[in-house]
Amino acid sequence: MVAERVYIGLGANLGDRGEALLQALHRMAALPQTRLCAVSSLYSSAPVDASGPDYLNAVAALETHLAPEALLQALQALELAAGRERPYRNAPRTLDLDVLLWGPRQLATPALTVPHPRMYERAFVLLPLHELDAHLVTAAQLAAVAGQRIAVAQDARWAASAVSA
Ligand code: AMP
Repeated sequence: MVAERVYIGLGANLGDRGEALLQALHRMAALPQTRLCAVSSLYSSAPVDASGPDYLNAVAALETHLAPEALLQALQALELAAGRERPYRNAPRTLDLDVLLWGPRQLATPALTVPHPRMYERAFVLLPLHELDAHLVTAAQLAAVAGQRIAVAQDARWAASAVSA
């Protein structure tokens, strides 16, 4: 079976944020039956619906033969390994990993809703996603988040060590 292209949103706003994101990418690249195909630039963004320090964000494209629930479990294990705690909703976090898109699929299980239900409200998802594949985001969707504060912190070479050739 052909591996499906899956887009993962990464974010961190506590601790050594860039290091946490890069380590997460290396760990995703090492998952079984999975290839890390591409990573966006690194973005800095203001927290949305939350207080606390600015986030670093990126989006990664994977190809995987893992089932959606298996990938989600693996991502949650990476969040835990990065010291993620959930004291309250939208609390600052050392690492947040979201499944944004899973090929053309729509998923609605108790654990997983794909496309991610809030992704189209967030500049820190739409800008890096658009950078990886402009077909995935419309001009109207970008315009809708144009008021959110976000900037490129480093170009896409920041994660080159994790991406497979
Ligand atoms: P968060 O605290 O933001 O990391 O949210 C994690 C919770 O959202 C977990 O209970 C997941 O099962 C659930 N969830 C639902 N859809 C998704 C998705 N597309 N990506 C990641 N987590 C999801």
